[in-house]
Amino acid sequence: MHAPDLPGKPDLTFRRLKKIIFVHGCFWHRHSRCAGASVPKNNAEFWQEKFRRNVARDKRTLRLLKSQGWDVLVLWQCQTKNYQNLKLLLEGFLDEGKSS
Ligand SMILES: [Zn+2]
Repeated sequence: MHAPDLPGKPDLTFRRLKKIIFVHGCFWHRHSRCAGASVPKNNAEFWQEKFRRNVARDKRTLRLLKSQGWDVLVLWQCQTKNYQNLKLLLEGFLDEGKSS
C-alpha cells in the first residue's frame, strides 16, 4: 500500500481508485484549532519557521497529487483515535465518485 514513488510518500494508496490517504501528525503538520498542535515555548521562532515549511510542503504535495489526478484525503492523528469516526471518514472517502 505504500507508494514511495509518489509525492509526499502517502500513508495509504488505492491505485485502482486513484485515491490517497495521508495521516498527518497534528503537531508536525499543524492541525488548526487542535490541542495537539501546540508550539513549544522554547525557541518558538525556530518552531514557527519549521512548521511553516512543513505546511508549505504539504500544500505543494497535495497540489501536485491532485494535478496528477489523485483524490486525496488528509486524516489527522487525533481523528484516528475515534474508531467510529475514522471508519465513517474512510468509507465516505473511498465510496466517493463510485457509480452506484
Ligand atoms: Zn488534531
